Formats: sequence, structure tokens, C-alpha cells
Amino acid sequence: MDKFVYMFDEAINKTKELLGGKGANLAEMTRIGLPVPYGFTITTETCNKYYDAGKSISPEMERQVLDALNTLEEKTGKKLGDPSKPLLVSVRSGAVHSMPGMMDTILNLGMNDDTVEGLAKLTDNPRFAYDSYRRFIQMFSDVVLKIDGFYFEQFLEEIREEKGYTSDPEMTAEDWKEVIKGYKEIVTKHSKRAFPEDPKEQLFLSISAVFDSWNNQRALVYRRIQNIPDHLGTAVNIQSMVFGNMGNDSGTGVAFTRNPSTGEAELYGEYLINAQGEDVVAGIRTPQPIATLQDEMPEVYQQFVDTCQLLENHYQDMQDIEFTVERGKLFILQTRTGKRTAQAAIRIAVELVKEQLISKKEAILRVDPDQLNQLLHRRIDDLYERKQLAKGLPASPGAATGQVVFDADEAEKLAKDEIKVILVRPETTPDDIHGIVAAQATITSRGGMTSHAAVVARGMGKACICGCEALKIDLKSKQFKVGDTIVNQGDVISIDGSTGEIFLGEIPMIEPQLSDEFQLLLTWADEERKLGVRANADNPEDAKKALDFGAGGIGLCRTEHMFMDAKRIPTVQEMILAETYQEREDALAKLLPMQQEDFEGIFEAMQGNPVTIRLLDPPLHEFLPDKEELLVEVTKLQITNSNAKELQEKEQLLRKVRQLDEMNPMLGHRGCRLGMTFPEIYVMQAKAIFYAITKLVEKGIAVKPEIMIPLVGHVNELKEMRQLVINAALNIEEETGQKFDYLIGTMIEVPRAALTADQIAEEADFFSFGTNDLTQTTFGYSRDDAEGKFLQAYIENKVLPENPFASLDQDGVGKLVETGVKLGRGIKPGLKTGICGEHGGEKKSIQFCQDVGLDYVSCSPYRVPLARLAAAQANIKHEQKQRELQIQI
Ligand code: ADP
Ligand code: MG
Ligand code: MG
Repeated sequence: MDKFVYMFDEAINKTKELLGGKGANLAEMTRIGLPVPYGFTITTETCNKYYDAGKSISPEMERQVLDALNTLEEKTGKKLGDPSKPLLVSVRSGAVHSMPGMMDTILNLGMNDDTVEGLAKLTDNPRFAYDSYRRFIQMFSDVVLKIDGFYFEQFLEEIREEKGYTSDPEMTAEDWKEVIKGYKEIVTKHSKRAFPEDPKEQLFLSISAVFDSWNNQRALVYRRIQNIPDHLGTAVNIQSMVFGNMGNDSGTGVAFTRNPSTGEAELYGEYLINAQGEDVVAGIRTPQPIATLQDEMPEVYQQFVDTCQLLENHYQDMQDIEFTVERGKLFILQTRTGKRTAQAAIRIAVELVKEQLISKKEAILRVDPDQLNQLLHRRIDDLYERKQLAKGLPASPGAATGQVVFDADEAEKLAKDEIKVILVRPETTPDDIHGIVAAQATITSRGGMTSHAAVVARGMGKACICGCEALKIDLKSKQFKVGDTIVNQGDVISIDGSTGEIFLGEIPMIEPQLSDEFQLLLTWADEERKLGVRANADNPEDAKKALDFGAGGIGLCRTEHMFMDAKRIPTVQEMILAETYQEREDALAKLLPMQQEDFEGIFEAMQGNPVTIRLLDPPLHEFLPDKEELLVEVTKLQITNSNAKELQEKEQLLRKVRQLDEMNPMLGHRGCRLGMTFPEIYVMQAKAIFYAITKLVEKGIAVKPEIMIPLVGHVNELKEMRQLVINAALNIEEETGQKFDYLIGTMIEVPRAALTADQIAEEADFFSFGTNDLTQTTFGYSRDDAEGKFLQAYIENKVLPENPFASLDQDGVGKLVETGVKLGRGIKPGLKTGICGEHGGEKKSIQFCQDVGLDYVSCSPYRVPLARLAAAQANIKHEQKQRELQIQI
């Protein structure tokens, strides 16, 4: 018999997968003796069964729920629907991964015309009883009957106006009664049925609605963004209610055991007196900071502080805790691992090691490399003289600039056109999530540090400012006012999420730096990792940056970037346009000292670390003007017939451009194919490298050059190019008397090279897998065309699990890499292997590189810290796997 339902004290040692995160933690907190209102959990498997059965609750499920309800009634001494001792419950969703606010929850279930009277008598607080009832009608109607909350709010507003009130606390019991009457009429009008008075009917309708909410739009979007699988399902938690809205000795709140923005070890949270659950997160009233609870309810505060400490020690991580105080008594309603910024993740991990709660390895695993991007972003220059427009709560750090928009759809639309926007809203709801994703940053005029916008933005590493009440937002005319200043949709503003400041226009930003904690964590990572981490850098500045960020060398230096320089392009074109060998030699002779200077700069910056230099790779027409544009110019000159000399030059250029024009440049005359047909270009580059080395050796600086031949598909290509480099070296050795120590290797970036890697290894000192091109050539995709035309659709329709240019396709491209390494090492056991595509900076691909035994990864300088951390994680996980295998044997 399937077991669908577990009481909180029965669900010991059951997994999060079965009970959902919320349910598992409620059970665990019950076990360790915390004050958790009693209840039971319907499992995630039940949710899947519910869907399998065409969205229906089977008789067996129903029986088990009713049994559990009985137990709950016995334990609490209350009864669902009994006016003399009414049991009220919450019906709460809770999936394996926390999805804050994405699915539905119903509070105060069990209220009807009878129980409300009972509750009024029992509590001697009719106002509270009617307030709770009208909340229930509204929530139930929204979640179960799908009636827009707007009708209820509008009606409430009318009543308030009629009575001349400005806020809810002024409403009396009689007023709420009137509201309830109106609410019920709204229900009858919009759902074609009367409000269900039978509490058991209420209960089962709510359970179905929570299961249904697993597939509501915002939950689907959230799962897609967070990469949470769709098949997991949600659990449902039925829990007896406690009330934070019983008067001024009651309240409700949310707190993090450490600051989720900075990581500082201080209690961080908010509460509202005389309020219920959702009021805090909904951001309708701006709550009070947790510290003032100490003055208002000192004993409760102390008890709460102790509970926070206990939970943090128990789970060995920062917790996000929901609590309610009912008439001076504290209840804990939820705990979960708190979402945090990258900065906070690092600081918390490092401090937990210092507090001896976790090991260094565990600390390394705690920080998600993907999140680190945030820290490697620019921030506002400290020297900027700040003239802020307004200031709100610093809800999520980071600096951003963009055009103001007031609507999530609009934000998404503009972002698609690569326009940077900042979303400005009175408050956000889970329905705005796509706008928060699309925007650079979000500002709300209401709500606190734990409001929806704040939690979501921190989770995504986006800047956010909340509760900026100075902003008078007018959604209709799409503008906001601060004093006399009017800001319209489309105006540019800047914000600093770590201070809460808002500025008009663009303001100066500076480059990122690594914090002390980050540096420390990275030195721990360096001790744990086996993979080397290098950077792709084409100039001395990038090389320096890479070294600062801890790169152990350059894995890819693209020499064509030196050719693209505006001052050099004329000489490069001269070389390309040369009609004779001599003309080309003359042009190359002019280019040589320029290249030499580049290499000297990079070698010097790298201080004796290895530098892999790739000889010229792109097709030559990339250095010439665009054909269409040239054609227009020539035609103009022909018509005006004014400048014969210019016309002649342009015509010659056009002839050359036409000559070099290719049907498919990606598969055309490029890479070593250039070197094969114009060896003098590669000779010049090789000479420039060796002259540069000579200069540096004179200065006493060590150099470790690795010369890389691109796009080799047949061993004979490499053989010839290798000889050419060796000859250049010999010539210069003879000329200067200097002996050179260098490696010659190749990029493996077409399938044939990977498949014949044993032959190629005979001629290579190293392999560097160029996984950008290897992905293009393996799939037969041209990246720009694929990403622009069909790849997005492929990913959305799950034809491909993800973009193979972002995360290495392990089944296909990865198999070629693995084959290449195996075949190569079969011939040369010590063959050095690395990867230099963009994948070298992506955590899953890095794990793959570790597993197939590469020596290093190479990525952009800004991703080097991320790669160091990911490489350490890869090794820790690799060792774990190894150990598990050994145990199995
Ligand atoms: P979410 O997962 O979106 O946070 P919850 O299920 O935690 O949704 O519930 C929403 C709000 O209702 C929270 O503030 C929670 O503390 C409150 N709440 C839930 N169950 C109860 C209860 N039994 N008594 C009082 N408040 C509750
Ligand atoms: Mg919650
Ligand atoms: Mg390539």
C-alpha cells in the first residue's frame, strides 16, 4: 500500500525528495523539539499520482488524509468545522527545491459562517475572527476558484472610503462582517457557485489547487530559469494555524541567520506586529527591522535568537526562518537554506570554516561558481561625487545603469533588443519574474528586504532596491516623481544596490577586485585542484589581469587581434594585396617589429609562466573592407568620375576582395591552410616570437613559449608547419647565438584531428582542444547562424538539453575530446592537453575536463577565479566518486 501522508512526528528520516524541503524541515524541527504547529505532509509522489490520474485525488489518498486529520484533531483538541473548538489549518505547498512564492498557500482554512462565531467567542476577539475569515475567503477564491484578487481589493477600498478610513486597522468587527457579505456576493457572481461552507470540501479543493499550482505559469518559468526538473512535483503541508493577527502582542516575520547580502554574521530580518503570514513577504506594508523586536518583546526575541543559532548549527548553514508570535508565544513555521548573493556565499562559507562548523572542502563546495560572475562585475567608482536622486533599502548589491521601465513585459521586450533596462514597480509579484530576469536591476517603492523582489533578485545576483518610498510612481502615465524631478519611461538612471542609492543618468564605474575572503577561499581551492587554470589573453593588459586573478599561464593568445589594430590595418592590407612575393615580404618586414613588440609585452607580463601563441587563424578577407560597401564606393566614384587614382585603388581592392570571397569562410581558407599557402606569414610570426624571447632573455626574464598551429586536420599539415617554425628558430639561433626552449603543438578543433590524434601526436608537443570550433564542426553548425536562427527553439523544445556553445556537449564533442586525449597519450604518455574554448570557464565542462584527464583549462581572464573554484570542486567530486567506486568493489 502506498503511503501518501506522514504526520510531522512520523516523518523522521524521510527524504526531502519525498516530503519536499518545507515538509522535511518541519518534521526535523518537530523532532528536535522546536515549537512547530502540528500537522502532516502529503508527499511529492502523491502529486505525481494526482497528475497521472488526470488530476484527481484517489479514494485511498482521501482516506489517508482524513486519517491524518483525525490524528491532528486529537492532538490539538480541536475539530475542523466545530464552532465550539474550531480547528483552522494552513495548506502549504513545498517542493524539493525551494521556490519562494511561486506556488500557492492557503491560510485559515476551516472558516465558515459557524466557526467564525465560535472563534469570535473563544478568543473574545470578534474583530480578529472576522478579519481572519475575510482573508480566507479572498485567498481561497484566488487560489481555488481563480477569482481575481482585484475585485476583493476594490470592494474593500470602497467600504474603507465609505467609512472614511485610511487603513485596515481602523476597521471594526462590524465593518469586516459587511466586507464578508460583499466578498461572498463577489464569489457567487464570478465563480457561478456559492462559497463552500463545508470545511472538508474546502480542504480537498485546496489540496488539488496546491497540486495544480505546481504547473502554474510562474512556477514553470521559475523552474526553467533555475534548471529545476518538471517531474519532481510538490508536497502539501497541512498545519494547524497560529495567529499573528490577534493584537499587539502578536506578529509575524521572516529572518535570515546571517546577512544574505553581505554575509555578515548578524540576525537579519523583519516583522510586522498584528499581521498574518503573507503580509511580510507581499510587501504591502513596509515591515520593521528585527532588532526592534528586542524592545517590543524582549523574551520572545531572546528565544528567537537562540532558535536561530540552534537551527544554523543543526543545518550547518545560514537559514531563512519564518516565525509567528501568537499572544506572546513564539512559533517556527519554516526553515530553509537561505538564498544569498555571491559575496555573502563566500563570506559565510569562509566564516563557517573558521567557526569549525564545516571543512574547507565543504566550504569550496558551498559556493556556486556560476554565481561568482556577480562579483566580477563593475561597481560605482568611490571617487564619484554622489548626487543621489533617492535612497531605498539596499536589497541586493551591484551597480547597474539602464532605461526606466514600469512593466515586466515591456522590460522583457526591450531586453530582447539588447536595451538595458531597470524595472521600477510599486512592488513585484511572482508574475513579474520574467521582467526581473530581463532587467539589469529592480526598484520597488514598497516592501522590505525580504519582499519578493529582494529575494528573487538576490537569488539571481541582480541589483535591487526596495521600499524606496520617495519614489511616487504613476504607472498610468509611465513616470515617477521624486520631489520635483520627473523621470519618464525610457530615461536613464543608475543604481547602487549595496547602498540603496538611485542616480540620474549614467555614472562612472570601476573594475572589480577580489575580497580577502574570496582570495582565501581561492587559495583553499588551489590546494584542492589538479587542473591548471590558464587565461585567454591577447594583450599585456589582459595578461596582467589574468595573472592578478590567479591564472597559471596563457592558454590562448590570438595573434589576429594584433593585426586588427587600426594603426596596423593598412600594413596588413598591403601584405594581403601584394601581387608579388617581394611585395609581400616587404609588408611582412614592416609587420614583424610590431608583432615582436606585442609578444615582448605579453611575455613580460606573464613572468615566466607558459604562453600559448596561436599563429594566424581567420581568413584574410576579415582584414579587408566589406564587399558591398566597397562596391557602393566604386560605383559612386565611377559615376562622379572625379578621382581617377582613388577609383583605381578601390577597384584593385575590390578585385582582391572578390578573389578572397568564400562561400563558407568558416570552412574555408583559414587556420593552418593559410600557413600552408602563404608560409611567409607564419615565418614572420615565428621570427617575431623568437626575437621577442631573445629580448626578454637579455632582460633576465624567463619565457615559456608554446607555439600553436590552428585548425590542423591532417598530420601532414602539422608536420610542415612544425618544420617551418623549427627552421625559423634555427635561423635566429644562428643569428643571435641564443638557444630556444619551446614547444610546438596544435589545436584540435576539427573531428578528423581528434580521430587521428595518434598520428598527430607524433608531431605535437601538446594538444589544445579548441572546443568553440570543434563544436561548430562536430554539429556542422555555424555558431552565429545557429544562435541567431534555430538554437533557441531547439533548447526551448528540448531537442538539445542546452546550448552546446555554452556548456560542452559531452556525448558528442566530449567523446571526440576523450578520444583525442586517449589516442594522443597512447603515443606520447606525457602529452600536455588543455582546452581553450569558452567552455574552459564553465563549471560542468570543467568537471568533464577533470574527468577525462586534461592538464588545464583556459578561459577569459574574468572567469579565472570561477574556473579555479570549479576545478577544485571538480577534483573533490572526482575523488568522492572514486571512493564510492572503491567501496562498491
Ligand atoms: P511560501 O513557500 O511561499 O513561503 P508558505 O507555505 O511558507 O509559502 O506560507 C506563506 C505564509 O503563511 C508564510 O509567511 C507562512 O509563515 C504563513 N503560514 C503558513 N502556515 C501557517 C500557519 N500554520 N500558521 C500561521 N502562518 C502560517
Ligand atoms: Mg514560506
Ligand atoms: Mg578555431
